[in-house]
Amino acid sequence: MKIPDNDELAEAVLSGEIAWPLDPARPYDAPRICPLCGRRMVVKISPMSWEAACSRHGLLRSEWVER
Ligand SMILES: [Zn+2]
Repeated sequence: MKIPDNDELAEAVLSGEIAWPLDPARPYDAPRICPLCGRRMVVKISPMSWEAACSRHGLLRSEWVER
């Protein structure tokens, strides 16, 4: 899948516009479903981080949403 050059997802999450649907019990789990469109996202997981990409809304990386 080609990752679109789009930061819509990152923007929406980081601005607090949408709640990031992380499971509080498993905060290091990557999200599987794009909260903007409900599409399944392509997820890459490495030991310390994850990366999730929606084919429409672009990429989100765990280090961007860590507090
Ligand atoms: Zn999406």
